[in-house]
Amino acid sequence: MEKMKYDVVVVGGRVGGSTASLFASKKGLDVLIIEKNQEIGVPVQCAEATSSSTFKTLEMKPSSKYVCNEIKGADVYAPDGSHGHLEGGYAEGFILERKLFDKHLAIESAKAGTDILVKTTVKDLIRKKEGVRGVVAKHMDHTLEIEAELVIAADGIESQVAQMAGLNTRQTPHSLCSCAQYEMVGVSCDPHYLQFYFGQKIAPGGYVWVFPKGDGVANVGVGVRSDTTSAYSFLRKFTSQMNATPVELNIGGVPVHGPVDKTYTDGLMVVGDAAGQVEPFTGGGIHVTVLCARIAGEVAAEAIEKGKTSENFLKRYETRWKKEVGGDLKQSLKYRRIMDRLTDEEMNILAKFLKKQDLESISKMSMLGFVRDYPQFLKLLKEIL
Ligand SMILES: Cc1cc2nc3c(=O)[nH]c(=O)nc-3n(C[C@H](O)[C@H](O)[C@H](O)COP(=O)(O)OP(=O)(O)OC[C@H]3O[C@@H](n4cnc5c(N)ncnc54)[C@H](O)[C@@H]3O)c2cc1C
Repeated sequence: MEKMKYDVVVVGGRVGGSTASLFASKKGLDVLIIEKNQEIGVPVQCAEATSSSTFKTLEMKPSSKYVCNEIKGADVYAPDGSHGHLEGGYAEGFILERKLFDKHLAIESAKAGTDILVKTTVKDLIRKKEGVRGVVAKHMDHTLEIEAELVIAADGIESQVAQMAGLNTRQTPHSLCSCAQYEMVGVSCDPHYLQFYFGQKIAPGGYVWVFPKGDGVANVGVGVRSDTTSAYSFLRKFTSQMNATPVELNIGGVPVHGPVDKTYTDGLMVVGDAAGQVEPFTGGGIHVTVLCARIAGEVAAEAIEKGKTSENFLKRYETRWKKEVGGDLKQSLKYRRIMDRLTDEEMNILAKFLKKQDLESISKMSMLGFVRDYPQFLKLLKEIL
């Protein structure tokens, strides 16, 4: 058995792991990323849309090295085909090439001093009386015992690492949105606008998305609140009407139940999908993950500098990320719960109302008029406000 020693071991090398390690390494810590795949960033399980806040958090400029397209807004389609157009604001952003973006982050992290082991899987934790103190990992047929003051679990929705430390990060079929996506060639759509389609017949409990990557290439996907087999069959059905060819198929789950109850314990913090740090309404996780992972990397540096890695000290990680995004995630969960209850007919009514409004400044008067005409929305409205 080979033995190693680091300040911090980060499990998972994609967006969460690479961001946490980048900021911990920048603060001078000795950091190791362990990634079970042979290459960082693949296979992609993402529609690749993100907002400018991702780059702000990372202190990076969006670069054509890993950004394929700029997005100016979105077109939203209700079940009856009614169509709303969103310009700018929340709908603005970028389409990434995640394979290149995640790898770029890992490269930046390595340049800052992080060591990386690919094709290596964490199998167990080293536990001492003061808490987690490293990991046991398997690389090919070697077993590695890696001691560390702290472990950051960035191992995605199938996370085992935080559970090994006693945290309840388990996802259930009910807490996930199952997704299937083709990257397709020959998609005719406006290259700078996202498309969303709602309706029980095409995506029960979720939506269909068409996210343009430019040059007739787009991510076309379906998220549903049931199993992945049906996500794939809904995808097949939707794309059968398109004269486009798939070059890639991605299947995966998105945690849409809000963050897990506790994201730290003695010697360990959990970030990203593993911690449920995803907007439940949209399923967007990249911007939230980088923010929480940066905080985890910075808290790791403070903890190690002070020699305090108990849960008492690491609690500040959760306090900080909740202060930054906790409120937004709660609000997003409310929206998702409301969407879960809307019938197709109610979605059509809502779409017609929203179409007439300027989303940034919906007035109280127009809301009152709306609920007077459609009283069934009053209860839903109370839940949002
Ligand atoms: C179909 C789909 C579409 C999506 N679209 C969008 C979108 O358009 N915009 C957006 O913002 N978000 C989107 N998301 C969500 C987004 O992809 C995630 O929130 C984000 O990737 C989370 O990053 P992460 O680093 O926490 O986890 P992951 O990206 O899942 O990375 C976890 C890593 O840990 C590694 N790992 C796991 N276990 C071990 C182990 N034991 N040892 C070593 N390594 C391990 C895995 O190999 C993996 O590389 C989408 C998700 C899906 C499934």
